[in-house]
Amino acid sequence: MEAKHVTKNYPVSGNRTLTANQDVSLNMYRGRTLGLVGESGCGKSTFMRMVVSLETPTTGEILYHGKDITLFRGEELRLHRQNIQMVFQDPAAAFNPKMRVMDIICEPLLNFKRIKRREKEAVARKYLEMVELPGEFARRYPHRMSGGQRQRIGIARALALEPEILICDEATSALDVSVQKNIIALLVRLQQEKQIAMGFICHDVALVQSLAHELAVMYLGCIVEVLPGEKAATEAMHPYTRAMMSSIFHLQMDFEKPVGTLEGEVPSPVDAPPGCPFQNRCGQCLEICKRERPPLRVVAPGHQVACHLFTQQRREEK
Ligand code: ADP
Ligand code: MG
Repeated sequence: MEAKHVTKNYPVSGNRTLTANQDVSLNMYRGRTLGLVGESGCGKSTFMRMVVSLETPTTGEILYHGKDITLFRGEELRLHRQNIQMVFQDPAAAFNPKMRVMDIICEPLLNFKRIKRREKEAVARKYLEMVELPGEFARRYPHRMSGGQRQRIGIARALALEPEILICDEATSALDVSVQKNIIALLVRLQQEKQIAMGFICHDVALVQSLAHELAVMYLGCIVEVLPGEKAATEAMHPYTRAMMSSIFHLQMDFEKPVGTLEGEVPSPVDAPPGCPFQNRCGQCLEICKRERPPLRVVAPGHQVACHLFTQQRREEK
């Protein structure tokens, strides 16, 4: 899947425009995980909601096997929804409390006439097993389960249609740390087994870098850096990514060293000023940063950064 130059504007009061995503270009590949990280409100969900066709971009295109899904309508869109599924943050709110687990898991399969009504319980048991829950849960109601168990049901429902792309929007953020670990292990196992492309949104950079093949860092609706997750700790270049990485606490960390913190507030995404989105919080802000928005540039294979510091350096070297 290729998102190309995707921008999403929302009209807000007083005839103004809120830019939730600005010129976002990201790709997703079979069997790989794209991690999307950034502070709350930076536009992560907006982007993924466009990927799952819950929203349409203001401009830009989203190509799935080369076809622009933002142009899909009616029956074509309905059928396409099978390919890209989503696990939501709050499973308690994502399920109809009057439905039993087997009805929740099988609803998409029945909608697309993939199974018959009488096959429901057997099919639900199969998917419960896949997410490591007992088959008896098929007859239960979701409120009689823990948060972690409910999220497993959410994963089972999303995977029932055998999508090629699975989007997890803060799918583990509401869970206890120990439960979160188990759910992530499950997601990673299923993703590898089924060779799904996974989009994993998380505001916790320590967590997301550990499982993302590609890590994209978002700030105020813009992608500021893309790099391999395993290199985030050592090779991040953007001042925002570096500040986030240095604010991770390690058990063996040197407490003599100052902990990196981010000063200042995220500016409003309404009528954002020109220049770099990070200018007011950046310790290395240059004159050009206030005038021109830095474009994403390739700095190494699989590594892109949008920061004038590195383009300036390169100019000076020449
Ligand atoms: P994140 O998921 O990173 O926390 P969101 O994508 O939910 O961020 O939101 C990005 C920005 O877009 C926020 O400022 C939010 O208030 C705004 N926003 C999201 N959805 C809408 C909407 N339907 N109408 C107006 N503004 C919205
Ligand atoms: Mg969100």
